[in-house]
Amino acid sequence: MPVKVYVDGQYVPKEEASVSVFDHGFLYGDGVFEGIRAYGGKVFKLEEHVRRLFLSAKAIMLKIPMSENETCERINETVRVNGLKDAYIRVVVSRGRGDLGLDPRKCPKPSVIIIADSIELYPKELYEKGLEIITAATNRIPPECLNPRIKSLNYLNNILAKIEGINAGVAEVLMLNHNGYVAECSGDNVFCVRGGRLMTPHESAGILLGVTRDTVMELARKAGISVAETNVSRYDLYTADEVFLTGTAAEVIGVVKIDGRVIGDGAPGPLTRRLKKAFEEYVRE
Ligand code: PMP
Repeated sequence: MPVKVYVDGQYVPKEEASVSVFDHGFLYGDGVFEGIRAYGGKVFKLEEHVRRLFLSAKAIMLKIPMSENETCERINETVRVNGLKDAYIRVVVSRGRGDLGLDPRKCPKPSVIIIADSIELYPKELYEKGLEIITAATNRIPPECLNPRIKSLNYLNNILAKIEGINAGVAEVLMLNHNGYVAECSGDNVFCVRGGRLMTPHESAGILLGVTRDTVMELARKAGISVAETNVSRYDLYTADEVFLTGTAAEVIGVVKIDGRVIGDGAPGPLTRRLKKAFEEYVRE
């Protein structure tokens, strides 16, 4: 079935779905977005994603031209219209069409776009074997400059880090914060296992508070595994028993090498595999 994209209230074929070159989302990255998955016809953590979208929009003084409930309905509808059961959904709200200056007041109408399609972030075998990553020289933007909790259309910070990873031949990169602690990866949150306990960077590290991160912490705590949201150093990761990443697109994936250091015994560890399985069962519930 050809993909139909929701663009400002209309469903248009993928090839015709477009926004103006004067849209400040295009000109300046002025806008916010969400990446969401649907499993078996049900959109996963829909309210949580839509809440985060609205909070991101509020932080940049962007008024989304519909309610949170209506946004949820439109997202469900887009999945339905495309006849999808398992899908990756991208919701974009940009400042809309304006002039060539920065002034957002010149953009009277935000653009709302919803795309439901498929995604495969990492090849299947990497979920079995685990990922190798490196630390990027590009640090995560300090929260006082642009808070990474805002999921904005400005992803150049992450893309610069990603390019370093591509040049080094790895699929994901670790990003440190301005204090030298671990923040997150270019598109995923990071966890490590030390002595049977989970550690993940606290939000004060300057990270996107991932919906998958929240879900995995909840599943871990339910299983009696303690989770500390705290400062995480590269030493903590290098010497961890296990390291794994979480994200809507990535789901849960083990990391087996960081900057040349083999993590644990070089394969996704038992807790990683257990949480990956718990996550897979949970999303299918
Ligand atoms: N950090 C960054 C920078 C991201 O872009 C994402 C989403 N791809 C995540 C973390 C993971 O967040 P979520 O689990 O909500 O997808």
